[in-house]
Amino acid sequence: MNESSRILIVDDERHNIKVLTEHLREEYKIMAAKTGEQALNAVQGPKPPDLILLDIMMPGINGHEVCRKLKADNHSMHIPVIFVSALDASDDESHGFELGAVDYITKPFTPAIVKARVRTPIQLKQKSDLLERMASIDGLTEIPNRRNFDGMLERELRRAARNGSLLSLIVMDIDFFKKYNDYYGHAEGDDCLRRVAKALTGCMRRASDFAARYGGEEFAVILPETDRHGAMIVAEKMRLGVVQLNIGHAASDVADHVSLSLGVATVSGHQDSSPVDLVRAADASLYKAKETGRNRVFFG
Ligand SMILES: [Mg+2]
Repeated sequence: MNESSRILIVDDERHNIKVLTEHLREEYKIMAAKTGEQALNAVQGPKPPDLILLDIMMPGINGHEVCRKLKADNHSMHIPVIFVSALDASDDESHGFELGAVDYITKPFTPAIVKARVRTPIQLKQKSDLLERMASIDGLTEIPNRRNFDGMLERELRRAARNGSLLSLIVMDIDFFKKYNDYYGHAEGDDCLRRVAKALTGCMRRASDFAARYGGEEFAVILPETDRHGAMIVAEKMRLGVVQLNIGHAASDVADHVSLSLGVATVSGHQDSSPVDLVRAADASLYKAKETGRNRVFFG
């Protein structure tokens, strides 16, 4: 269970990094940084550490300052920090805890102590990561849920505003889904939702595109740096993708198979739109798609 956990060792003395690495490398992936600056860069990478062993006395940014910066940043605040130091002053120790460290190891280390001190925060980190994943994924369709979508839309709107780029949103409904459930039963309804979710994610080509289950039979897709034309193409691809699943829907008024109505909205980062504005605009398009016959894409 521990083999994929990463520990970042930060120490200005090569020897200390070497000793700690020897104690820990059998159980963990080890990353090393020789300065506070390097440590702060390492946590911003695509694979941030699950625990940081942080030397206090370092030239440049010292360990306390590194910890303060880590705990002030959303991206790194959840990574547990253990201070490592030759300083054995209790003042220093309590200062470390005030800064948000979970523990304190004094040099010289013994392998048993280092391993024992590291184990618990790593296990807690794994559990909280798992809970975080579970809380952001829809249990039925296994794609991101509404909570996850809300956070992502906010982040992407901020990014669009920073970069002055475009952002598109598609919201969609399965046509006559209540009738589907009434006709085929809820087990079939659940299966239909799962297959539609899979078809939608199968239509996305870029890592930044983001599909979520928005509500009961509603889905939403965030397309960063995508103009109206590009969003219409993706939406039409999704509509066709669900048609091609060819899931029979004898109770539908619009087709003999399961179909989608989709509404598209696009904003420019310069417009200073809120998530509510963008969702409302896409919803208005969706309403038009339904009003004009369903099983279609509409851009309002
Ligand atoms: Mg040092």
